[in-house]
Amino acid sequence: MLNITRRFSLSKKSKAIIKKHKIKNGGILKIQSWDKISKKVKNEISKKLFSINGFKCTYCERDLVGLTPGIDHLANKAAYPEFTFVPVNLFYSCNYCNSSSVKGQKETINKLSPFYSHCDFKIVHPYYDNPDSEIFYQDIDRIFIDYARCTQKGKNTIDFFNLSSYIMTNIRSRQLILERLNPLLPSDEKKLINETIAYK
Ligand SMILES: [Zn+2]
Repeated sequence: MLNITRRFSLSKKSKAIIKKHKIKNGGILKIQSWDKISKKVKNEISKKLFSINGFKCTYCERDLVGLTPGIDHLANKAAYPEFTFVPVNLFYSCNYCNSSSVKGQKETINKLSPFYSHCDFKIVHPYYDNPDSEIFYQDIDRIFIDYARCTQKGKNTIDFFNLSSYIMTNIRSRQLILERLNPLLPSDEKKLINETIAYK
């Protein structure tokens, strides 16, 4: 899991759009709010997430260039629509981690609070926790997970995203080789990213 150390804030314009949407919905956000909100808001979120978090899946760390990533709600928007637009609840995710069989709408909160930052999360939170103090590897290249050394929250996260499975280990090792042997040129990377981060 990536260690996310910076957060973004929404522009006044986007906040106003969300507020208007909320009023229209009787003062609350609903499960459909993300789909219904203007693409301008989602594009702003997408670009800001990219500029501060880079372009990797937050959960499995796979490079998202050339893939079709999504913006995942760590506290899922079906159960917690009130957190739909909370910036620190939003992370880039690959299709695999965000799929219904992996993360989907699974429960990520142990103890709910009306304030997002006061919630107790079941899995490592990429912004509030430091994943590198929860999940440990056997090797310096961070390929093979050392499950026994991980904290309980780290173990929950590994189980949640199947991070120690053969497939995920394989993905980490292949990505490392690719980054070492054939790194993308910054110009190519920028072009590919711009093509994929925009909501159309
Ligand atoms: Zn992933």
